[in-house]
Parts: sequence; C-alpha cells; structure tokens
Amino acid sequence: MSAPIPVTPELLRELPLPNHREGEDKNSRGRVLVIGGSREVPGAALLAGMAALRAGAGKLQIAAPASLAAHLAIAMPEARVTGLDETAEGGLAPEEAARLAGRCAGCDVVVLGPGMMDPPATAQLTRRVLEEAEGSPGFVLDAGALAELMDCRAALRRHAGRLVLTPHAGEMARMLGLPAEQVAADPLGVARQAAAALGAVVVMKGGRSFVVSPQGEAWSCDRGNIGLATSGSGDTLAGIIGALVSRGAPPVTATLWGVFLHAEAGDRLARRIGPLGYLAREIPGEVPAIMGELA
Ligand code: AMP
Ligand code: MG
Repeated sequence: MSAPIPVTPELLRELPLPNHREGEDKNSRGRVLVIGGSREVPGAALLAGMAALRAGAGKLQIAAPASLAAHLAIAMPEARVTGLDETAEGGLAPEEAARLAGRCAGCDVVVLGPGMMDPPATAQLTRRVLEEAEGSPGFVLDAGALAELMDCRAALRRHAGRLVLTPHAGEMARMLGLPAEQVAADPLGVARQAAAALGAVVVMKGGRSFVVSPQGEAWSCDRGNIGLATSGSGDTLAGIIGALVSRGAPPVTATLWGVFLHAEAGDRLARRIGPLGYLAREIPGEVPAIMGELA
C-alpha cells in the first residue's frame, strides 16, 4: 500500500472547489439538510448547520426533535427548522424516517448523525433513511449514524459515490466491531478497511486525520492541534464537508478541503485565543477567510 499523500494548500489548489459566479443565486451553492440533535445534545445540529453556511452552502434546513425546534430556529435564524416526533429518551423517532426520506429529494446533501443520542432509535432511523431516501443527495454520516452501518451495506450501495463517513477512533471501532486497540495501532489500515467495506470516503479523525477513498487512495492531514479535541468540534467538520458537497465538489475533494479547513481554523484559533479553550462554535467563523486565501 502506498503512503498517504499529505493534504497541503498546493494539493487543494489542484482540486479546486466549484467556482460560483457573481449573479448566481443561493440555490447554485446547494441545499444542506442536517438531521440531528437530541434533548441531551441539542447544539450539535446547530454547530453542523452553522459550519455548513460558513463553508458556503446556499440554504440550510435542520430536522431535529420537536422539543428543540423553536430553540434551534431562534439560535440559527438563517435555517429552516423542522421539529420531528421524538422518543422517550429525547432522540428522533424512527417513525419519522419516511418523512425525512421524502425531504432528501429537495436537498443536495444530508448531514446525518450529529448529537443523535438514542442508539437503537438512531440506528433504525439511519437505516430507513438510507433505504428510502428519495432523489440523489450526498450523505455525510457522523456520530450516532455510524454505529450500525455494517448492517446497512445494501442501503449504502444505493448512494455509492455520494457517501462520506467521519468517525473518530471510538466510532470506528464500534462501526467495524473491532477492539479499540486495533484502531489505535493501525488507524490508516482500519480506515482503508472501512472505506472498502462500506463503499464510502472515510475520514479517520484524530490528532493526525486520514482520508481514504473507496478505492483505497489515502491522504493525511497533520495540521490542527489539541485544542480541536473539544465538544462539538467534529460536528463542525461534518457541516463543512456537507457544505462543500452541496456546492458541487466530488466527495473526495469536499472531504480533503473540509479536513484541511477545520484543522487550519483550529490553528488560527490557537494562535489568537490560546492553545486550549477555544470553542467549537468559533471554528466555523474562521472558514470563509481560509477558503478565500486558498481559492
Ligand atoms: P469529534 O471527536 O467528533 O468531536 O472530532 C474531533 C475533531 O478534532 C476531529 O476532526 C479530529 O481530527 C480533531 N482533533 C482531535 N484531536 C486533535 C489533535 N490532537 N490534533 C488535531 N486535531 C485533533
Ligand atoms: Mg463527533
């Protein structure tokens, strides 16, 4: 297996993001649907959504448990927010899958999973949305949506070429049914295994992140810093990648850019605020300038 290619500004300039011309309207930069949040972790959907708009998506919809909807709408006035039936544990009810599957037709990318905390309900909802999704949006699957994907391989095949998965080491171990030590010992090898088995672009997140295509091509990103290991950080990464897919970038391009933008945002916050203690909600605000400089 060849060594992973470092993700650098030079590499990204060879894989440019779609060029949006003056005069185009917001639909040309895509519609992002974030499905996520739970009573215990309401802000994850907000962080992903905020990151999506900061990474240039044209329109944002958030689908979240009904008890959160008004709060999210006030916190994120730019979003269209839909409240859905929730489980006793405060997660999204799997019975809402059909409605969400219909919604997929009207969007360019679905970011599914941030903040989803009721594991059995989340697994069922994820499977049904993947099985029934209408239209052909891209999918960024994160956090709770990753847990049982090995049982959803038939449904994932419907979305081949349009899938990005963003596990950290614990989520990767759970997803593949491997011991955590094995993931820690060979994160790149395990990421290759996941990308091949699930037919998706996989980000193996960590201090050094790896990106692997379903064909086994691999990249690594060494930027970023320990301050990025903070609650909500990964939710913003999922939103950034989702936005770049919605703007029309191929999944590998969107993922390489997303990983770099997230890490570089962290490096700028570390310099300005301090190495530890900047907040995940501060990451998205760094993204527009970095994107502009790399264009
Ligand atoms: P999550 O655990 O889902 O919130 O995601 C954490 C994010 O922060 C991922 O994108 C990681 O790659 C990144 N991250 C965590 N720790 C570090 C670190 N020590 N150096 C650089 N990036 C990190
Ligand atoms: Mg996460």
